[in-house]
Amino acid sequence: MLTRELIWPESITVIGASNDVSKPGGKLLKNLIDNKFNGKLYVVNPNATEVQGIRSYASVSELPEVETAVLAVPAALCPEITLQLCRDKNTRGIIIISAGFSEQSEEGRQLEQQIVATANKYGASLIGPNCIGIITPAHASVFTTPVPKLDQMGCDFISSSGATAVFIMESGIPKGLHFASVFSVGNSAQVGVEDVLEFMDEVFHPETSTRVKLLYIESINNPDKLLKHASSLIRKGCKIAAIKAGSSNAGSRAASSHTGAMANPDLAVEALFRKAGIVRCYGREELTTVGCVFMCKEMKGKRMAIITHAGGPAVMLTDALEAGGLKIPQLKNSPKKEALKKTLFQGSSVENPIDFLATGNAQQLEAIIDACEKDFPEVDGMAVIYGSPGLFPVGDVYEMLNRKVHACRKPIFPILPSVINVKDEVAFFLSEGNVNFPDEVLLGRALAKVAAIPKPHTDEIFLDGVDIPEIRRIIDQTEDGYQPPAVIHRLFDAAGIPRVKEVVAHNLDEALQAAEEIGWPLVMKVIGPVHKSDVRGVVLHVHDRETVVHEFNRLINIPETTAVLMAEMASGIELFIGAKYEDRFGHVVLCGMGGTMVEVMKDVTSGLAPLSICEASSMIKNLKSYKIIKGYRGQEGASQRKFAEIIVRLSSMLRFAVEIKEMDINPLLGKGDKILAVDARIRIEK
Ligand code: ADP
Ligand code: MG
Repeated sequence: MLTRELIWPESITVIGASNDVSKPGGKLLKNLIDNKFNGKLYVVNPNATEVQGIRSYASVSELPEVETAVLAVPAALCPEITLQLCRDKNTRGIIIISAGFSEQSEEGRQLEQQIVATANKYGASLIGPNCIGIITPAHASVFTTPVPKLDQMGCDFISSSGATAVFIMESGIPKGLHFASVFSVGNSAQVGVEDVLEFMDEVFHPETSTRVKLLYIESINNPDKLLKHASSLIRKGCKIAAIKAGSSNAGSRAASSHTGAMANPDLAVEALFRKAGIVRCYGREELTTVGCVFMCKEMKGKRMAIITHAGGPAVMLTDALEAGGLKIPQLKNSPKKEALKKTLFQGSSVENPIDFLATGNAQQLEAIIDACEKDFPEVDGMAVIYGSPGLFPVGDVYEMLNRKVHACRKPIFPILPSVINVKDEVAFFLSEGNVNFPDEVLLGRALAKVAAIPKPHTDEIFLDGVDIPEIRRIIDQTEDGYQPPAVIHRLFDAAGIPRVKEVVAHNLDEALQAAEEIGWPLVMKVIGPVHKSDVRGVVLHVHDRETVVHEFNRLINIPETTAVLMAEMASGIELFIGAKYEDRFGHVVLCGMGGTMVEVMKDVTSGLAPLSICEASSMIKNLKSYKIIKGYRGQEGASQRKFAEIIVRLSSMLRFAVEIKEMDINPLLGKGDKILAVDARIRIEK
């Protein structure tokens, strides 16, 4: 919950304000003054009568009523001051920049909890502790620089880490990224990244709200809230990119020691981002580059024209875009193309990349941009590379480019790499409200990421032929642990997950009878051992009764074996579906190809249950082995639509069976529309 008093305060007090601007309490006050907070400003410092030209109060009790307070005093003093402010001064916005709380010690954690209890009791918003503060259009309550120039249509930026927030702003500002607001939530004692997003969702206005949000997250305390508001904002037309730090085990340790946060299993994060439609980034440069792409006009398709006066960057950009699935189409031969060529110097190329040579000038670039905009329907966007070897000024080029960026319908991505040679001209270009991508490869990768992100999910659960009451009955009757074939059969049948016919045989007679029922050839396997092949417990291609007799006697004597499973023999490519229940996230569903592709190549994609057909299809398409699944070099593949449907059915089943903590189907055998589960493990824990 974010209060009006926190975002748009009419009065602010800085507790612990100082004349020394190298101290947080001094710098914060200076930032408030420099950035022209135009409400009432009060300071509390018992050792001074005046701080930075403002009358100082000796104690909180002497203050008049004040809407928001920034605390820059030792941690131990914060609970009492918070109480005084909320109870006596009607304060409803509390920002604590001090450290020494839950990130440090058990005593610190207790202080933090007291503060949260007070804030909750009085309906106040608490930012921090252990943060750099916040910047809203009304006030710059941060103790760090740079304080970016605020722009209502810039990006909203929320960060778990204060220092990282500074470094991300430092990465974005030179690229021309503007900010609409900055929230550093520190320990997220009361307000976390999710809560700020919720607030932005609730106050979103299509005309006046910015559509770009950048997040740096160290812990996701409430995945449901993050999913709900991120996807809601994206459905309203927003674009969100986020770093979730702590994806490796060592990274998780670093995150927890920093914020007292618990690391979330990374696959669940991946799945949640995918479901919401959040572009996941892994570093600051990547995040701010994606942020700049979001600031450009949207590319309606995947076809880029690369316009350059230098070969190297164009080649590198081509490589990066193609690797990411975007297209650099050759321009079709036409009189328009010929005419364009005539306006360029001899030796220029009007294929794609369009190279108008090192000597190319503003008029020529303008002609190329106009042609791409109007005459070449085969391109959806333009990447313009124009630097300077330092021989002649390029101001006229950037002036023209500035006009075109605003005027063209198709997006123009400016790559102005000469940040030293033509520093002033680049600065002029940025001052006109443009972004710049100094590195073409970072741009290429960012564009590919943005293009690959699926649309946010719908909330509907696929229930066609999914028998929920039956699923509940089965789950309620089971005991904890790995489930026997009979339970798995019933669950799959209730969810409509196709499987091979299987019969459990406890003795030879039952085995022979089952063989007749199932038909030849068939498969025999041990029931009991977890990894059946490892103990030579799977026999394929059983063609006759003699083999049944022989193999039954062998299999039943394998240690831990309780019975023999007689199964219909299927064929096709091996597919895999797995699922794991993650605390607070729910079931993460994985898919891939079976066998070594999943075990050795780790080629899996993930999604968060319940999944839609669209989400499942996108999971399948994102597999490296997608081409093999579709069918490769004469080998028949498996139907993507059917595979997606099975993934969806399983995810719907799991939604009503949270007691299933882990399961996998490895493999399913698929040939065209016929995809059958042949081996499954389900572990239930109630
Ligand atoms: P495990 O995974 O315990 O070793 P599986 O039941 O998965 O045992 O069997 C091992 C392999 O045998 C499978 O990956 C698959 O290639 C093949 N297989 C198992 N059951 C069948 C079946 N019913 N039809 C065709 N092939 C099968
Ligand atoms: Mg198996």
